[in-house]
Amino acid sequence: MKQCKNCNVTKNSVFFGLYRDQFTNDQKVKNVCKKCIAEEAKARRTFKIPKEDFKEGEYDPDEHWFEDDPRAVRENDVGKASHAPTHLPRAWIDNA
Ligand SMILES: [Zn+2]
Repeated sequence: MKQCKNCNVTKNSVFFGLYRDQFTNDQKVKNVCKKCIAEEAKARRTFKIPKEDFKEGEYDPDEHWFEDDPRAVRENDVGKASHAPTHLPRAWIDNA
């Protein structure tokens, strides 16, 4: 039987985790029970920033609706990218 340092409940040592002492290399029983460790990990995982810290963005209609740049309308980007291979197959070179 062992008392948990966090919840102060006396439990069987089965409910306590084990760790390896770094100096003596002995297996020892942790002072905090598994349930307390799990609850702490869950609280860390589900932590959310309080709503007071959020800053609401202002909606600007001028930013939503805008006309395209007239130069961009006339632009012709079709086929601009070249798809020529950098490595040619051996058969292409031999037949040429
Ligand atoms: Zn506990």
